[in-house]
Amino acid sequence: MTEIIPGVYQIKTPLPSKDILFGYVNAYAVRGESRYLLIDTGLNTEEAFNSLEKQLADIDIGTEDISQIVVTHIHPDHYGLAGRLKQISGAKIATHHLEKKLIDSRYVHMDALLRQVVSWLHINGVPDEILPELQAASVGMAKFVVPAMPETILYGGETISNGLFSFEVLWTAGHSPGHISLYEPNKKILISGDHILPTITPNIGLHPQSGDNPLDDYLNALNEIKKLDAKIVLPGHENPFTGLKSRIDELFQHHSQRKSEILNSIRSEHKTACRIAAEIPWMLDMGGAKWKDLTPRDKRLAVLEAIAHLESLRVEGKIGKFSSDGIIYYQSI
Ligand SMILES: [Zn+2]
Ligand SMILES: [Zn+2]
Repeated sequence: MTEIIPGVYQIKTPLPSKDILFGYVNAYAVRGESRYLLIDTGLNTEEAFNSLEKQLADIDIGTEDISQIVVTHIHPDHYGLAGRLKQISGAKIATHHLEKKLIDSRYVHMDALLRQVVSWLHINGVPDEILPELQAASVGMAKFVVPAMPETILYGGETISNGLFSFEVLWTAGHSPGHISLYEPNKKILISGDHILPTITPNIGLHPQSGDNPLDDYLNALNEIKKLDAKIVLPGHENPFTGLKSRIDELFQHHSQRKSEILNSIRSEHKTACRIAAEIPWMLDMGGAKWKDLTPRDKRLAVLEAIAHLESLRVEGKIGKFSSDGIIYYQSI
């Protein structure tokens, strides 16, 4: 636990493997006049729950002192413990309305979504022989979440106050359709969730629940965030950092580089998103990796990320697509 500024505490809770996102996710506890606001929660594992409880105890608060949990997005590492904490503390949960819509299909009745994702990967060119392993990579995440419906539905533009801090809710879609960030204009702090991380570029994928053009949603949201006068950024992974505007420039650069690689890849022949994903480099922020070395989970994310870039290029009028025998191909125009 680290006190970032007076009254705002970074709480790192463990992920199951050190290889995933440096092995931890951040929650932030914010002191209020009587009780505490918690932003994100960590995964639903005993290790993460015990770690959160212990770090709260270090600042003399118990889980029952949390009055509100604001969830930046409903990925398991951010939302996993929300239901369990609500049961203990009676805390009210707040999420964006587009995240609320995903809770049931992701964590309660998952079969329909799993089928949709398989057919989405298939029509985007994932070969039948690797389809089962890419599908299996998303099964099992539900155990990391105690689902609970939010009481407070956010749209962006609201203010969340606890007497000592007032956060503006900013809708920052892209990584997840209803991702939100929180900005405290008096203290000049930005809580960025997975929208902006100091060295990792967050995954932006196009899939059955992402919306039609998540990459443009993401870049547009970055442009809005760039106008803020934030002195320090509190991200969902890694550590708080300064230099928001230059980090945003790096993220723009990253996505325009990826778009050029994709354009090059289809210059001479039309290809499926999966074939393109298999030909361009990945994990650039971690030294680069080839398709064959990616885990099944990362292969799935790579295909979805390739589709997000392809659709953004198509909207720009730089490429076209067609389907043949039920498979989608992209081509330069
Ligand atoms: Zn996430
Ligand atoms: Zn995350």
